[in-house]
Amino acid sequence: MNRQVAIIGAGVSGLTCGIVFAERGYSVKVSAEKVGTETTSGAAGALWFPYDAEPAGKVIPWALATYKVLADLAKDRNCGVSMIELRQYCRTGKIELPGWASRFVIPDAAFVSSSRAEKSPGISAAFSDGFAVRVPLTDTTIYLDYLIDRFQKAGGEIESGVRLEKLEDVRPNFDLVINCAGIGARELARDPDLEPHRGQVTIVPRVARTDCAIVCDDDPLMYVIPRTNDCVFGGTNDVSDDWSPDPKTTDSILAECSRVLEIEPPRVLRARVGLRPFRKSGVRLEKQKLGDGRTVIHNYGHGGSGFTLSWGCASEVLALAS
Ligand SMILES: Cc1cc2nc3c(=O)[nH]c(=O)nc-3n(C[C@H](O)[C@H](O)[C@H](O)COP(=O)(O)OP(=O)(O)OC[C@H]3O[C@@H](n4cnc5c(N)ncnc54)[C@H](O)[C@@H]3O)c2cc1C
Repeated sequence: MNRQVAIIGAGVSGLTCGIVFAERGYSVKVSAEKVGTETTSGAAGALWFPYDAEPAGKVIPWALATYKVLADLAKDRNCGVSMIELRQYCRTGKIELPGWASRFVIPDAAFVSSSRAEKSPGISAAFSDGFAVRVPLTDTTIYLDYLIDRFQKAGGEIESGVRLEKLEDVRPNFDLVINCAGIGARELARDPDLEPHRGQVTIVPRVARTDCAIVCDDDPLMYVIPRTNDCVFGGTNDVSDDWSPDPKTTDSILAECSRVLEIEPPRVLRARVGLRPFRKSGVRLEKQKLGDGRTVIHNYGHGGSGFTLSWGCASEVLALAS
C-alpha cells in the first residue's frame, strides 16, 4: 500500500490525522494556508473538556478516546501535554456535573467534591459552587510543534501558504483528500452550517497564584490556564469573523481574571484570536465523492473541542479510509 493522501489544514485536526496516516505507511502531504501555532489551534487554551461541539452522542466517545491518548502522551515531558486539575465554577447557585461525568469512567480523572474546588485560595468569593476533574492540558506553544515534528519524522510533508478555492484543486496524484480546514471549510466545502465562534485570549506571564486551571462558563466567560512558560487568561465566545484582537476585550479579560485571582493585573505578553469552527448540525466526519470521482473525508466543525476530539476523530477518519 502506498496510497497518496492529501490533507487540507495544519491545525490540530490536520496534523493529528497526518500522524495517524503517516505512521501507518500512507504517503501524506498536508497543505495549508497557515500552520500550527498560526492557526485557530494556536490560540486555544487547549484543555481537554467537551465544549461547544455537537452531537453529544458522538462527541463524548471521541473525547474519551482522545483523553486516553493525551494522558499517555503526558508521560513524555517533551511533547507539551500534562495532566492538570481543572476547576469548573459557577457564579450563582449550584453547578451541575456534566452528563458524561456520571455515565463514563475516566481513569485517573476522579471528580472531587465542590467543597474542595471552593477552597482554592483567593477565589472562593467569586463563585458559589464548583467541581474539579483531572484532565490533559496541551500547551499549544509546544504541542503543535511536537505534532509537526512527529508527522515529518513519519515521512509526512507540509506545504504552507497554500490557499485552495475548492476541494477539487488538490493535485490529481492524490487519491484521497482529507478536509481538516476548520472554519475555512465554510468556503472550501460550501458549508453554510459552519459558524465562527470567535474567541479572544490574553497571554500573561505565569501567575504564581495558581497551578490548576480555573474555568467559569457563566457570563462573562472566564478562564485561567497556567502553561509551561506563560498563562492564558480568557476569554470570549461570540459569533464573528474578526481575527484581530480588540484592546477593550483584552482589558476586560485581564480585569476579570485578576479580580477572580485577587491579584494586580499582570503584564500582557500577547493577545490572540481564533475562530472556533462550530457546526450547527454537528461535527462533520464523513466520506463524500468529489466531482472528479475522488473521495474526500471531511473532518471539521469541532467548535470549542478540537483538541479534546483530535485523536478520537483522527482514528475514525482512518477507519473510514480503510
Ligand atoms: C480562544 C479559544 C480557546 C479554545 N480552547 C479550547 C480548549 O480548551 N480545548 C479544546 O479542545 N479546544 C479549544 N478551542 C477550540 C479549538 O481551538 C478548535 O476546535 C481547533 O483549533 C480546530 O482545529 P482544526 O485543526 O480543525 O482547525 P484550525 O486550527 O482552524 O486549522 C484549520 C487549518 O485549515 C487551513 N485552511 C482553512 N481553509 C483553507 C483553505 N481554503 N486552503 C488551505 N488551507 C486552509 C488553515 O490555514 C489551518 O491550517 C479553543 C478555541 C479558541 C479560539
